[in-house]
Amino acid sequence: MLAAMLRRSQTARLGPPEPEVPMPKRLIVCTLCQRVQRGGEWVETERMIRELRSYELDSIPQLHGVICDECVDSILLRRSEPSAALAA
Ligand SMILES: [Zn+2]
Repeated sequence: MLAAMLRRSQTARLGPPEPEVPMPKRLIVCTLCQRVQRGGEWVETERMIRELRSYELDSIPQLHGVICDECVDSILLRRSEPSAALAA
């Protein structure tokens, strides 16, 4: 009787958790400007953390570092203008 109860409670605990906040398993993060890709746009990391409340989660999503389009553009722009990079 007790074993059956334990087994049932264990099954309930191991069941699929109800997702309260839609949390992506993987976050695309720009390693240069530290923004996070969210639904096709790049948002500030702080805003992302606020929205996802990732600090309340047991496990944070896996971070995947990339360089966003804007940073790629700025790098290309800087390379084409070496004097501007020296001035900065
Ligand atoms: Zn960037």
